[in-house]
Amino acid sequence: MKKIGYRYPQGKMKALTMSYDDGTIHDRRLVEIFNAHGIKGTFHLNSGPFENSGKIDPCEVATLYIGHEVSCHTYTHPFLERVPNMEVVRQIISDKETLESLCGYVVRGMSYPFGTHDSRSVEILRSMGMKYSRTTASHNGFGLPDDFMLWHPTCHHKGGIMEKLERFKNSKFPLNLFYVWGHSYEFNNDNNWELIEEFCAAAEGMEDTWYATNIEIYDYVTALRSCEMSADCTMLYNPSATSVWVEVDGKLVECKGGEHTKLF
Ligand SMILES: [Zn+2]
Repeated sequence: MKKIGYRYPQGKMKALTMSYDDGTIHDRRLVEIFNAHGIKGTFHLNSGPFENSGKIDPCEVATLYIGHEVSCHTYTHPFLERVPNMEVVRQIISDKETLESLCGYVVRGMSYPFGTHDSRSVEILRSMGMKYSRTTASHNGFGLPDDFMLWHPTCHHKGGIMEKLERFKNSKFPLNLFYVWGHSYEFNNDNNWELIEEFCAAAEGMEDTWYATNIEIYDYVTALRSCEMSADCTMLYNPSATSVWVEVDGKLVECKGGEHTKLF
């Protein structure tokens, strides 16, 4: 029997993504470090307090985060499980609308303020079209979420990222995802910018790894999950608009969007 398995874009085995909250001025230094090492990430911003000191300027948003993703974090950072339904709606609509006007693209993801949520707020957000939302519940592994609206990260950057990077590099399992989250101001408060500098330098240029934003991971994995296979596993139908990659006995096959592809 042939060995058939999904791969990330261009046949990569693994993916790395970063996720940083609150949009403070320290994002400038963090983006610079990511860019210097080809690391990609998502920045979850509260657009309400843009004028507050310590937050990045609205006019910076479009340019600062080029190559990364700008994503929602609510307008004023409430505990979503403690506010009325309509306030959940307003918090997201206001944030999404402001960020979209600054970035010029549809903002489809978010992270939960304080990492907290209840089933009611999750369902409101889902019904509003939010595609993913990151929690702060580290699982310390490299698995993909079942439900992207409850997307638990691998760990916070203080959760032993150098040791985990070694484990990630040595692992041979396909579709591993290393997902790091935090706040850029923590590097300033803790005076440990060298931690993220060392991590990004060590994580740079891994041949078998896809460097992606949160929404790119969501879009690709959703495309994989939408694929349908013939009963004899020789043919794959990809109904999405993006190519997906399948490895068959060590041979890589690109399955283009909207097409049936013969795997072997
Ligand atoms: Zn936050």
